[in-house]
Amino acid sequence: MTSRRTRERMVGRLQKQGIKNTAVLTVMRDTPRHIFVDEALASRAYEDNALPIGYNQTISQPYIVAKMTELLLEKGPLSKVLEIGTGCGYQSAVLAQLVESVYTIERILPLQKKAQNYLADLALKNVYYQHNDGGLGWSEYAPFDGILVSAAAETVPDMLLQQLAVGGVMVIPTTQNNGQALQRITRSNTGYQAEILEAVSFVPFLSGVE
Ligand code: SAH
Repeated sequence: MTSRRTRERMVGRLQKQGIKNTAVLTVMRDTPRHIFVDEALASRAYEDNALPIGYNQTISQPYIVAKMTELLLEKGPLSKVLEIGTGCGYQSAVLAQLVESVYTIERILPLQKKAQNYLADLALKNVYYQHNDGGLGWSEYAPFDGILVSAAAETVPDMLLQQLAVGGVMVIPTTQNNGQALQRITRSNTGYQAEILEAVSFVPFLSGVE
């Protein structure tokens, strides 16, 4: 239930759902996802569902992780990526294998600690952690050529826009009318361009820390 065969089936499903980036598919085939959830849920880790990770939060469904990563990387390779909402760390683990370094911020400390342990188990060393309100970004390491946000914000936080490099890409779910949609924002010399993409369902982006 937690074997490579199960992950190969998951990747087959992702391809049917329209994921094309072979580097993303390869990394998701090779990264154990079950280690990021409680043992009781391990057998369900490869289903295309979000699963609880405690503290009222969820691990994003495989399709969403794949889609956001693909959207982020579509315009070319990235070196420095800021991730907001580490959660259990699965998305961070996927990113860490596709970019040079990942700076990840989580507002719930026990989740951050768990994620740090899981990524250490996988020997992923190019991930840097901060316990903070991700709406502030991480100015010390800015600008970032990619920013990926895993919680739905009402509006795109200003600090994140400022910390996006010229030529950089941000993927973020935002609330739109009654629902949520993925948004991709690219920054050029002349400003920011936004594309509103598909409907999604994320936990809310919250301020402050726990
Ligand atoms: N990518 C994660 C998704 C976790 S769910 C995974 O694969 O598991 C979203 C996470 O965003 C939650 O852990 C939540 O605590 C966190 N979050 C919400 N608002 C935040 C904020 N302002 N700053 C940092 N983290 C935030």
